[in-house]
Amino acid sequence: GEALAVSARVAPLGSRLVLLLVEDLTEARRIEAVRRDFVANVSHELKTPVGALSLLSEAVMDASDDPEAVMRFAGRMQIEATRLTNLVQELIDLSRVQNDDPLEDAEPVRVDTLVAEAIDRCRHTAQSKHITMAAGGTADLRVWGNRSQLAAALGNLVENAVNYSPARTRVGIAGRRVSGPGGDLIEIAVTDQGIGIPEKDRERIFERFYRVDPARSRATGGTGLGLAIVKHVAASHGGEVTVWSSEGQGSTFTLRLPEAAATRTTAADSESVP
Ligand code: ADP
Repeated sequence: GEALAVSARVAPLGSRLVLLLVEDLTEARRIEAVRRDFVANVSHELKTPVGALSLLSEAVMDASDDPEAVMRFAGRMQIEATRLTNLVQELIDLSRVQNDDPLEDAEPVRVDTLVAEAIDRCRHTAQSKHITMAAGGTADLRVWGNRSQLAAALGNLVENAVNYSPARTRVGIAGRRVSGPGGDLIEIAVTDQGIGIPEKDRERIFERFYRVDPARSRATGGTGLGLAIVKHVAASHGGEVTVWSSEGQGSTFTLRLPEAAATRTTAADSESVP
């Protein structure tokens, strides 16, 4: 009787342990699968431009008596080389945001400076497409975080807004302070009047290498890593990034980040006062 009672008491605990172990294994398998997919994706993304470069260099050699063809092939080689450079740079950025603790050298960062930098980064593309960029509400806002990571995150959002919008549209960047459960947050919303994102893809666009339209992404020099970087930066700063979109109408990406506390802001301010 005694023995039975004991095993009955142990059984529920035992099965819970087994369940936990199974869950752990499933999670480990999932992580392993994600890692394998990532390596396969990187290899594929690298192979494409490298393969094109190799074919184009052969074509150049075959066309040595046709200077016009040589120039044409050389131009395409340049495009493939740029694609390769962008991919390697974004891989470096991604590994940096995944490995570095952003809060190690965190400081109050002015939102208007971040916004000005992001706009500057896209100025050329925006001008050539006659896209107007407008920012508002950012004065006096400061976020607490790693300056270069925050600049990369906002830069990617603004770049996407410009890339996935037709000519003669508007990209707006709006900042505001909102109260969150754990204190005040700074919200930066990037709104475009572009192609929008189908509902079924909205969750997945933050995954590494996920693109709604791979051909269109490549045509604009996209690597499929930008939003993965944004999501990682937001999360590691204790914030988040969300998307609202209406197909054919446009999208709004909203970054929510912790506000730089008033005392810290004051300290930084007084340093710059002569
Ligand atoms: P990419 O380098 O392809 O732009 P991202 O990770 O930045 O990679 O974005 C992933 C995908 O999400 C893009 O390929 C595109 O399909 C979609 N996307 C991102 N931003 C926008 C936007 N503002 N409007 C429409 N689609 C977008």
